[in-house]
Amino acid sequence: MLDGSCCCGTVRFQLTAEPSMMGTCHCIRCRKVGASTIVFVRKEDLKWVSGKENVQLFKAVPPYRYDRCFCRTCGTSLGEILSDMDSFPIAANAIDSELTVRNGLHEFVNEKPSWYEICDDARQSGDHPPSS
Ligand SMILES: [Zn+2]
Ligand SMILES: [Zn+2]
Repeated sequence: MLDGSCCCGTVRFQLTAEPSMMGTCHCIRCRKVGASTIVFVRKEDLKWVSGKENVQLFKAVPPYRYDRCFCRTCGTSLGEILSDMDSFPIAANAIDSELTVRNGLHEFVNEKPSWYEICDDARQSGDHPPSS
């Protein structure tokens, strides 16, 4: 069981399985909301402990696809934690437990600021990764 929470502790959740994939998005929007590194979780693996009603949704505006959730109290980025898709990304920063999964993808590297240096061998994509 993995634990996750926001900075102020209002939002708490658990994951019954390790996330399947980790990716880092360098788009301007992810950078602004402080949620560049995300992990994909399956809906059935996410268990709410508290604070779901304190999560605010920010709808994606094209060309950006991902809605963004955050804690209304402290602003911690939570990714698409309110999604009802079978699998969805949540912000890796919200997970308190150690993870074994490692970054496997950099997307929107065309929007990456020069001060951020990519220091791993993960696959890179200029914008969205090619859909599979
Ligand atoms: Zn909070
Ligand atoms: Zn992004």
